[in-house]
Amino acid sequence: MAEIGFIGLGNMGGPMARNLMKQGHAVAAFDLAKDKLAQAQKDGAKACATAADAAKAEIVITMLPAGRHVREVYTGANGVLGVAPKGALLIDCSTVDVDSARAVAAAAGKAGFEMLDAPVSGGVSGADAATLTFMVGGSEAAFARAEPILRTMGKTVVHAGPSGAGTAAKICNNMILGVSMIAVGEAFALAHKLGLDPKKLFEISAKSSGQCWSLTTYCPEPGMVPAAPSNRDYKAGFTAAMMVKDLRLAQEAAASSGAATPLGAEAAALYAMFCNMGEAETDFSGIIKMLKGR
Ligand code: NAD
Repeated sequence: MAEIGFIGLGNMGGPMARNLMKQGHAVAAFDLAKDKLAQAQKDGAKACATAADAAKAEIVITMLPAGRHVREVYTGANGVLGVAPKGALLIDCSTVDVDSARAVAAAAGKAGFEMLDAPVSGGVSGADAATLTFMVGGSEAAFARAEPILRTMGKTVVHAGPSGAGTAAKICNNMILGVSMIAVGEAFALAHKLGLDPKKLFEISAKSSGQCWSLTTYCPEPGMVPAAPSNRDYKAGFTAAMMVKDLRLAQEAAASSGAATPLGAEAAALYAMFCNMGEAETDFSGIIKMLKGR
C-alpha cells in the first residue's frame, strides 16, 4: 500500500481521496478550505497544515481548479517540487491549459521528479463510484507506476502520450461534448417548432446517424433518459461554467497551435452567453432552454 499526499479535496478530489483510502492506501491530505480538510479527515486521511506537509509522500496527487493553482502548488514558494522526497511520483489530475501542464512537468523533470498530467472525465458521480476515465500524459515508466493507483479511482486509464497529452485529450474530448450538446439541443428545438414528437426524434436518432453520447446518455430534452439532469430541472452534473472553462482552454490551445476550431469557438460563445443569463451553475445540458428561447 502506498503513502499518498493528496492536495485539493473539492467535489472531485474529496471522493477520489476517499476511494484511495477504501483500498487501504494512507492519505496525507491538504486543502485551503477547512471544511474540505475536515471531511477528508473524517474519511480517514491525515489532515496536513500545509501543501508542503502533504507532499512528503511517495506519490503526490493534486486536484485543483485551474492552471494557476497547479503552478503555485508545484513551483511556488514551499511548493511540492521543493519538498517532495527523492523518487516521488507526481500526478496532477486537474483540468488545466496544455501550456501549464507542460511547464509544470518540465519544472518537475528539472527537479528530478517524474510527473504525469492525468485529467479525468466522469464527473462527481464517477469520482464517487471510482469509475472515472483517466487520460494520462508522461513517460511509459511513470505511467506504469501510476496505473494501479489510478485504477483505484477509475475504470478506464489510458496512456495518451508524452507530457501534456492527457490534458490535450481532455480538452479535445470536451470540445466534442460542448459542440454535440448544442447540436442535440438545436435538433430538439427544431423538432418542437416542426410539431415532431420529441420521443419519436429520440427513438429514431438514437438508432440513426445522429446518435451520440449527448443524445443517448445525457439527453437535454426531458423525459428521454431517466438519469439525465434534464429530468431534475438541469441540476448539475457538470455546470455550464465548467463547460465554458474547458471550451476556453480548447480555444487557447487552438490559438497557440494554429488549429481551426470554428464550432468550438461558437460553442464557447454560446455557453458564455448562457452563463451570463444567470445559468452558470446550471448543468451544461440546460443550454437547450436558451436554444428553445426560454
Ligand atoms: P472544486 O472547486 O470543488 O475543488 C478544488 C479544491 O481545490 C477546492 O476545495 C479548493 O479549496 C482547493 N484549492 C484551491 N487552491 C488550492 C491550493 N493552493 N492548495 C490547496 N487546495 C487548493 O473543483 P472540482 O469540481 O473538484 O474540480 C477540480 C478539477 O477537476 C478542476 O480542474 C475541474 O475542471 C476538473 N473536473 C471537474 C469535474 C466535475 O464534474 N466537477 C469533472 C472533470 C474534471
